[in-house]
Amino acid sequence: MNERRGVTLLGATGTIGRNTLDVLERHSERYRVVALSAHSAVDRLFEQCCAFKPEFAAVVDHAAANRLRDQLKAVGSPTEVLAGEAALEDIAALPQVDTVMAAIVGAAGLRPALAAARAGKRILLANKETLVMSGHLFMETVKAHGATLLPIDSEHNAIFQALPRDFDGRLDAVGVRRILLTASGGPFRRTPLPELAQITPEQACAHPNWVMGKKISVDSATMMNKGLEVIEAHWLFNASAERIQVVIHPQSIIHSLVEYVDGSVIAQLGNPDMRTPIGYALGYPDRLETGVSPLDLFKVARIDFEEPDLARFPCLALAFQALQAGGTAPAVLNAANEVAVAAFLEGRLAYTDIPVLIESVLADISVQAASSLDDVVEADRRARECARRFQGHRA
Ligand code: NAD
Ligand code: MG
Repeated sequence: MNERRGVTLLGATGTIGRNTLDVLERHSERYRVVALSAHSAVDRLFEQCCAFKPEFAAVVDHAAANRLRDQLKAVGSPTEVLAGEAALEDIAALPQVDTVMAAIVGAAGLRPALAAARAGKRILLANKETLVMSGHLFMETVKAHGATLLPIDSEHNAIFQALPRDFDGRLDAVGVRRILLTASGGPFRRTPLPELAQITPEQACAHPNWVMGKKISVDSATMMNKGLEVIEAHWLFNASAERIQVVIHPQSIIHSLVEYVDGSVIAQLGNPDMRTPIGYALGYPDRLETGVSPLDLFKVARIDFEEPDLARFPCLALAFQALQAGGTAPAVLNAANEVAVAAFLEGRLAYTDIPVLIESVLADISVQAASSLDDVVEADRRARECARRFQGHRA
């Protein structure tokens, strides 16, 4: 008899979380939602608990957790509410859970993702910040505990699909020359450079092809998202920076490509809908129906490519720089970016000051070895402190 796989969904109320529930709902004969989490958006979490009846709901904010507990009690729900950050690690490691979707945004996703790795789970990784901050540590933990890592980021999922099934981390052994990471170029690909300083959060969050959370939307506009993804690809596929080429492809139909030594280039195509990579990773190695509409190539009609302009997208260059520097540099980059993006979204930092802030933090903080979680957490803390000081000067 086939048992249903138990699933924990970290970041259930976010864009990835909701898309994941959409796919899970279509396959309730294969999956059982064991736990859901949210930071504080408990109204949405309440609805999800009513619909999916998980054993646990974890809420970081204590007051919000109490509210959810009362709401669920009032309707006689069997779901137990857990509160606080540590609860995220607990639900990532439950024995009845086989699969953990790591879809919290930002550095907050690191500890729960590590907990899932230590528990040997099948990890569906959307939280790219985990690999950016602690790539070496995370990959080692996955290996040491026999966890399985499946990328959710559409580009990395595409690369995973275009690599041979038996890929074991040695690109040369399977004849791979380069990885081509596609990027839409975001909403400001053609905006005259002098106008960038006036960009508002609303403009930056209006992505031409994807509907996403605010932080990743701003990251897509600055192309820091692609920079973080270069670092993510480095760790996932054991690829040096020189072997990763970023290609702007405004239609977002080709999700990434793998170039082989014989001249073959294998791409994965599809409509820009995160349910495709989510479904692929959930079902792997099986293919699942996801509700994604079929790709109509006649409607797409053409696909374009261009080289990224680093003067327009300095964040991309900074990410390559941090990857080359190694150690704690990517964690510093990530933390400085989180502070900068939050300040921009709150109207306290100009769009064009995002890379200025990150560059100054990278210059200020010396690179250390990132061998332990403590090293990474300390680098993250120092970078945030430094970024806030910078902001103080600018304000
Ligand atoms: P989102 O903002 O829509 O949702 C974030 C989720 O994380 C919410 O459930 C929120 O409650 C939770 N959360 C936020 N802060 C938290 C904290 N401090 N502690 C615990 N939980 C917290 O974000 P999203 O767009 O769904 O992105 C989630 C992750 O997936 C990000 O790392 C992003 O880079 C990655 N990703 C997203 C997309 C996309 O299309 N949205 C694509 C590729 C990768
Ligand atoms: Mg992506």
